[in-house]
Amino acid sequence: SKNRSSKPFRFLNRSRMNGPLTGAPVTNCVNFAVCAKSPLTGTWNDSHCNGWWGPELRFAGYLGIIIKGKSNLPVYVNITDDHVEILDAADLWGNDTFSTQEILKKRHSTDRESRVLTIGPAGERMAKLACVFAEYRTAARGGLGAVMGSKGLKAIVVTGHKRYEPANPGAFKAARKRIYNKVRTSPGVKTLRKMGTSQLVDPVNETGGLSNRNYTSGRDDNLSEKLNGPSFMEKLWDGGNRRRSCRGCAIQCSHLAVVEAGKYKGLVHDGPEFESITLLGSNCGINDPAVVTQAEHLCDSYGLDSMSTGSTISFLMECFSRELITSEDTGGLDLSFGNADALIETIHMMGSGKGKLAFAADGNRDAAARIGNNSDDLAMNVKGLEIPAYLPQAARGQALAYAVSDRGACHIRPWMYGKEAFGSGNPLECGGKGAMVWDGQMLNAILDSIGVCKFLLMAAAGLDDLFDLYIAAAGFDMGRAEFDLIGKRLAVLTRAFNNHEGFNRTHDTLPKKVMTEGKSISQADLDLMLDEYYKSSGFTKEGIVPASLLRELEIS
Ligand code: SF4
Repeated sequence: SKNRSSKPFRFLNRSRMNGPLTGAPVTNCVNFAVCAKSPLTGTWNDSHCNGWWGPELRFAGYLGIIIKGKSNLPVYVNITDDHVEILDAADLWGNDTFSTQEILKKRHSTDRESRVLTIGPAGERMAKLACVFAEYRTAARGGLGAVMGSKGLKAIVVTGHKRYEPANPGAFKAARKRIYNKVRTSPGVKTLRKMGTSQLVDPVNETGGLSNRNYTSGRDDNLSEKLNGPSFMEKLWDGGNRRRSCRGCAIQCSHLAVVEAGKYKGLVHDGPEFESITLLGSNCGINDPAVVTQAEHLCDSYGLDSMSTGSTISFLMECFSRELITSEDTGGLDLSFGNADALIETIHMMGSGKGKLAFAADGNRDAAARIGNNSDDLAMNVKGLEIPAYLPQAARGQALAYAVSDRGACHIRPWMYGKEAFGSGNPLECGGKGAMVWDGQMLNAILDSIGVCKFLLMAAAGLDDLFDLYIAAAGFDMGRAEFDLIGKRLAVLTRAFNNHEGFNRTHDTLPKKVMTEGKSISQADLDLMLDEYYKSSGFTKEGIVPASLLRELEIS
């Protein structure tokens, strides 16, 4: 749109923000966000990451960092408590994420292990699918690694020696005790610990939402039975006992894979999670857990968003199957669905920037523009962000969430699929979904802003518990109603940012495939849900935040 005011690589302010609870001595208090205007979508983007880096930043004494300007030479930032220095990164430029992390840990760890956040070669090249990698976790979505690369910033190393001090220790202790009691007794925690998010493969497949072969259908038992939780547990995760969890986590959903036989023997890798299993696996017609693990490992190593990478390769595979591209375009690769070697080779090209398919590292929207021949009909994205694993046609509310999310097709703001497919309502019903999505967006905005991994709320604690913990930690004089208002203010604010960049109702839409194939969603169905969503949120029928709403929420 002509109205769009700022280009992502010229967007000078970029922040990594912790929530008030990041680093708190309580399970799951590990989340931080990398925020900027997305080079992939042109929208607001906050991309979240768990692990160790966010807490360490807090221990160094910071709630967040704002980075302005750029360096003409590669640099990295080293923070040790109050001491901050910008150092030469010439020797690191070109390195993958794992080796960069290792080198910087060796260089800066002293009495305490330093924590490293870095980009890989994809971010250095400003590929739009580039992620930010931090201690085996990623702030994956929206291409924020490219923003870092545009500034010549390879990494940020943090070492902190301060203690996390809650404002009200007595109340904090009481809230913490209640949360641990719930974690100890929750059946949801037991399953998460055993299988992580891979537990979703079977039920999502059975309810018709497990995308396969570029979102052509939502069920394929032959793919899902080899990619499900028990398969990963048995083949790669030592029965679910081999884990590498985030700092101080009592849930421990994350597993460490070791490939003991076959082509990728010797590979050790954190994960993979449900989204990568589906998008690099079934959506590309692949059903071998070791291949999916290797594929995700390569994405992490090059610093690519594994979800968008899988979705973009599945798009190329469909183009290949329809002869919109040929082996001449792929550098001789047989890019048929199910060809594991072709999947791996394509990731190498996207990550390294070398080879005929290197262009795919800018995502499926740009790839379709380059391929032409109406291939954009097959490119599954919203506002440029590739669609996650849940087939949109299988759950109307999830489809609406993809259409209206502030950062493009997002599956967790809110996660409607779980509510719709595993709850009591009808996933194919459109009525009521607009209000549900708006409520979910406000709730998730709260969670994303306080610094807590979402699995705590999903598996064990209630929002009341988090409110008590938050108030005790931050010492705010705030009632529950005001706490709930945080979510509304944030959801309105990011929509207002997007409005400012030219986004409106016409951009809250779905790919052609969703509206024409399978249990397709008609424009009338989408309009009905959009109208309800805008009414619930207080936006105009055109999807614009009115000035009166900004005033009411005291957003200036
Ligand atoms: S539940 Fe999983 S993602 Fe969340 S903090 Fe624990 S290990 Fe990390």
